[in-house]
Amino acid sequence: MKDISFSRRAVMLGAAALPLARRAAAQSGTKPLVISSGNGVAACAKAMELIHAGEDTLDAVIAGVNIVELDPNDHSVGYGGLPNEDGVVELDASCMHGPTRRAGAVGALRGIKTPSKVAKAVMEQTAHMFLVADGALRFAKALGFQEENLLTEQSRQAWLVWKRSLRDSNGRNNWVPGIDAPPAKKTGALDLEQLKREFPGAGEKWLAQCVDFAVHPPHGTINCIALNQKGEMSAVTTTSGMAWKIPGRVGDSPIIGGGLWLDQDVGAAGSTGLGEENLRVCGAHTCVENMRHGMSAKDAALDTLKRVARNFDNDMERLKQVDLQFYVMSKDGDYCGASLWDRTRPGGPVTQFAVCNGTGQSHRQDAVFLLERRS
Ligand code: ASP
Repeated sequence: MKDISFSRRAVMLGAAALPLARRAAAQSGTKPLVISSGNGVAACAKAMELIHAGEDTLDAVIAGVNIVELDPNDHSVGYGGLPNEDGVVELDASCMHGPTRRAGAVGALRGIKTPSKVAKAVMEQTAHMFLVADGALRFAKALGFQEENLLTEQSRQAWLVWKRSLRDSNGRNNWVPGIDAPPAKKTGALDLEQLKREFPGAGEKWLAQCVDFAVHPPHGTINCIALNQKGEMSAVTTTSGMAWKIPGRVGDSPIIGGGLWLDQDVGAAGSTGLGEENLRVCGAHTCVENMRHGMSAKDAALDTLKRVARNFDNDMERLKQVDLQFYVMSKDGDYCGASLWDRTRPGGPVTQFAVCNGTGQSHRQDAVFLLERRS
């Protein structure tokens, strides 16, 4: 009996001593899985395609989110993202590689369409983990990334409409026609007819969207997490952050442990939504720690969201203004998308996230939620 228990212990110690990458590789037969925020259906499909082709999981998720970073019609990420209050697009991104336990991040990066790739370069090619602002741009340019204007015509229009919505305490605004202007039928700063005259060619639908962006400053991000057949994981989060932010504001997305966390022994999590509130609970790290202590992906995320609610003493009136989601995956393939609220606005669509499980099509699925909005 003594001998058997000794040898069992020896086996256990031996397993603990195995390098992590080899231990992960030993778990062959894991079903590959990719999840992301709701804007990542194509990103999940791309990442899965690369995982099937044998690419590293980090290369897979970064290639996935690059689709969204380069898409001028996604106004929350990369090129075409809504700018800061000066009309300049500033991007944040982070990435983590499970097998090597490394991470990289950039914050307030201007002029580079794919900040996730720069975050990976910080991880792989520097002794640092996080570069910001001008230093991050200089680093990216030194590596050959091209500096470009990230403000599209649509994003510029949205920014100008937002400028028109700002008023001083007397209701004045220098960004709308002055008192010497010919009288218009309606003079409201965000009157759609007036905007149509001022932005001919912008299209009524887009201008209505701009008005909505001005009234409800949007945020958005893509987080993407992958697991391959060897049990290896990687994750990435990339964003243009909160629209109309103060220049230099960095949200949760590039904060390792905030907008992204991965522990190859446990799992990974990422976030979208109001970064400031995520930072107050170290959200992604908290989700993963919850799983380490035995919770399912869903319980881990809902518990973290409860901590957000607790920070407001569960005051629903204030919480109504918070929009926050987590995407969580365990190393065994348990996963969820979880949202503080069932939907962003009363009557709006239910919050969803994207999933690709290797055999099926990449698709959207309803997120679980903590609180329900009454219409
Ligand atoms: N979390 C991002 C930030 O706060 C924005 C978002 O996901 O909506 O910068």
